Order: sequence, then C-alpha cells, then structure tokens
Amino acid sequence: MEKKVRVRFAPSPSGFLHLGGARTALYNYLFAKQNGGKLILRIEDTDKSRSTEKAIDLILKDLSWLGLFWDEGPDIGGDYGPYRQRERVGRYKEYIEKLIKSGSCYYCFCTSEELELQRKEARKNKAPFRYRGKCKKFSGEELEKKLKKKIPFTIRFATENEGSIIIEDIIRGRVEFRKEEIGDFIIQRSDGTLTYNFAVAIDDALMEITHVIRGEDHLSNTPKQIMIYKALGFDLPQFAHLPMIFGFDKKPLSKRHGATSVSEYKDKGYFAEVLLNYLALLGWSLDDKTTIISKDELIAKFNLKKVSKNPAIWDIKKLEWMNGYYMRDKSLGELIKLAVPLFEEKGYKLELDKEEFYNWLKSCFSIIRERAKTLKEIPELIEFLLSKEISIDDNDWDKLFKEKDLSEQIMKLAIKKVDNLQEWTVGAIEKALREIVKETGYKVRDVFQRIRLALTGKLVSPPLFESIELAGKELTVKRLKNALVKIKEEN
Ligand code: GLU
Repeated sequence: MEKKVRVRFAPSPSGFLHLGGARTALYNYLFAKQNGGKLILRIEDTDKSRSTEKAIDLILKDLSWLGLFWDEGPDIGGDYGPYRQRERVGRYKEYIEKLIKSGSCYYCFCTSEELELQRKEARKNKAPFRYRGKCKKFSGEELEKKLKKKIPFTIRFATENEGSIIIEDIIRGRVEFRKEEIGDFIIQRSDGTLTYNFAVAIDDALMEITHVIRGEDHLSNTPKQIMIYKALGFDLPQFAHLPMIFGFDKKPLSKRHGATSVSEYKDKGYFAEVLLNYLALLGWSLDDKTTIISKDELIAKFNLKKVSKNPAIWDIKKLEWMNGYYMRDKSLGELIKLAVPLFEEKGYKLELDKEEFYNWLKSCFSIIRERAKTLKEIPELIEFLLSKEISIDDNDWDKLFKEKDLSEQIMKLAIKKVDNLQEWTVGAIEKALREIVKETGYKVRDVFQRIRLALTGKLVSPPLFESIELAGKELTVKRLKNALVKIKEEN
C-alpha cells in the first residue's frame, strides 16, 4: 500500500519568514493538498542562541496570512509531536545511544586547536578538510576513563570511506556524493546540543515524512541524513530540492535586492494571493503563458516533477504588475475591506456603516484603483479627500506658485468658476475649468497643475476633475482660497 503523503516545512526561527522559505512552504502545501496528504510544521530551534519566540510567532502569522495552513504543528499538536526540536531532545539522545552501540558513531576528544591544525594542514595540501577518525579507536576502558575525566567530547558519525550515496532527487534527478568526500561529521556538539543533520533525520523519520521538499542549499546535507537513516534502519523518504532564488544580478536573493521577507510585502500592501501566485511561479510554470493562477488551480495543477533545476529570478516589476492585476480584479467592497487597517494606521476611522459615506468612498476607490500598485498606496492617493488640512512640499510650492501674478490669477478664476457651478458633475467641472485656459491663454498644464497642487497637495494625483467632484464644492473652494492667501503672503 502506498504511504499517505506527509511533508513538512521546517523553519529555523531566527528571523522573518523569507521569500525562499515561503516558497518552500507553498510547494509543500500544494503537494500535500493535491495528494490528500498532510503538511507538518516543525520548528527547528535547536540553536538556542539564534532562535526566538518572536520569530516563531512571526513565521506562524505570515504562513497563516498567506493561507498556508498546516495539519500538525506546535500550536495545534498532532500524533507525531512535539513539533519543536527543543522539546524532542530526549528522543535524539535515545538514537545517539543506539548509534553508539551499533558503532555507527563515536566519541571524539579532539580539541579545537588540534582540529585547526588539521585544517591548516589540509589547506597547505590544497585538499578539503575531512576528519580522519583519529578518535574512532577509543573503546573499552580507555574510553571510560576519558569520559569519567569529563574531557569534553563531540559525537561523530562514522562515514565509510568507500562507496557513494545516491539521491534520486525528484527535481534534480540522480545526484551522487562520494562518501570519502564527506568525512566523519559531528552529530552532537561538545555542549551536548545536536546538529541540524542529526535532528532533522531523526525528526523526518519519526514523523514519517514521505517527501522532503526543501531548498537546494540543503542538497549537500542530504547524504549525511541518508546515512543516519540507514544506520538506524529507517525507510528513506523521497527528496526534492528546489532551485535557489536569485536577484537580477544572479546572486542569491538578499537585502541588497530589496525586501526579502513576507511581512515586508504584507506591510507594503501586497495581497496574500498575489504573493502566493508569484511564489508558485518561482521555479515552476503551468505553461509558458499563464501568469494568473488561483490557489485552487495551483492545488490542481502544480507538478513537483516539473519544477526547474535552474535558479529562479525575483522580479519585483512582475510582482507589482500582478498586484495591480488583482487590484483591478477585486470588487470595490472587497478592496475597501482590505484597505481599512491601512487607513486606520494613518489615523482615519472610516464610518463604513454610513451608506452615503460608503458610496462616496467606493467612488474614491474607483478613481484610484488603476493607479495604486499596492493596498498601501490607496490611502496615500486619497488622503487629500479625507483630511481637513493638506501640506504642500516646499519644492513643489516653489515650482508652481513662485510665479505670483500668473498663480494668483489662476487661483482667483478657479475659485470663481467652481463657486459659480450649478451642476456638480465631472463634465460641468471640466468645462468650467477649461474656460480659464481659453480666457487667459495660459497652457492647459499651467492651469490644471496649479489647481491640482492647491487641492491635493501633490503634483501627481488621481484624475483632477473626478477628484474635484469627490472633494465637493466647499472643500475645493477652501483649498483654492488657502493657496491664494499663501501666494499673496509669500511673494
Ligand atoms: N531548518 C532548515 C532551514 O530553515 C530547513 C531544514 C530542512 O528543510 O531540512 O533552513
């Protein structure tokens, strides 16, 4: 009988959830879902100095925000817990004992100075350093004596010197590692903590993980984990190593390339489903043309075997484009709901239960949804319609209002035209303001940019006539008058 698919996402909680980690979580999630399997969340917090509770919280929060829910994990439990490595130490020690008994690992008393000498020697010979098993020989009384004396030790896995470990990787195909190139690696450090390779192998085996899907940066760890599996008689899982994510300069994605954590994109106002859609395409594609794919479609169509071996390139422009696409695709009501917290952050309490206000807000959203690339840009674009006061940047002011006569004349005329309007429609507003151009002979741009700056406080804004319509007569006239007063005062 085929085993039920069990996959895991196993972050080390030393910081934010990175884009690469999120993609690993996503591919695991998709694979579990499409196979009716389970996704396990395991926190790899053996490294006490680097793991924090805050990071665990953030990772759980970001995964949930993305909609990547797990079936077993530290917060919800499950039959294979505990799901934090820190709480599994007892189990690891049990298996260390077994390995020592069977002779698959041994105590190593080499000091760091001795090891450094060996490393130096290797460098001199231009050979990579491999631990040569000097301490393997200790046994019986001699060993007992050393242990009694409490001489610090590490525990090393005894790697054979001949033969190879072959990985039939789902993505990379056959990968071979020669055992002699691996050396006897440490599985327990001198402070008693376990190394990543050991803990991960024990956990994956005990949690009955069927497919280990993770970043390619772990490929060189895999033979070590396989040796531990074999030494303990565990069934091997299948492995799939995902391609790295690079920036445009073909270097691994890092801070130099901009935001690299999921929460930064969340804060910038990207939609969770956009990030998912985009991450899914970092290393996999449905065909050469499809870019917009829903989560359900991904579950149905994602194919682990078709993930590329080549590094994926992070393209922020494509992500922005995709966010804009989803923005236009959402209903105005949905957009308002999503944007509310961002308005609140800026101190605006939106009274959505007042029908007139809600409809007005919908109109505001409809004039900017083509322009906003992210949710965060929405409040920025329509803030001038909500706030009592606006501030105008000094440079922008000087650029347009330093020319006193022209500016005064335009403001005065604009105030008159707007004030006299009987019909308050976009068409009527446009017609009235175009008259200023005709009457004065000034350029369209000279006239409209000044009105725009006086009303919105910005040189770039949503469409001017629509903005005036939504601002209403009173506010528009007030802003134009404020500008006029200041023009007079300053020059
Ligand atoms: N804890 C490891 C990391 O965050 C992942 C281990 C694994 O997937 O095997 O890189």
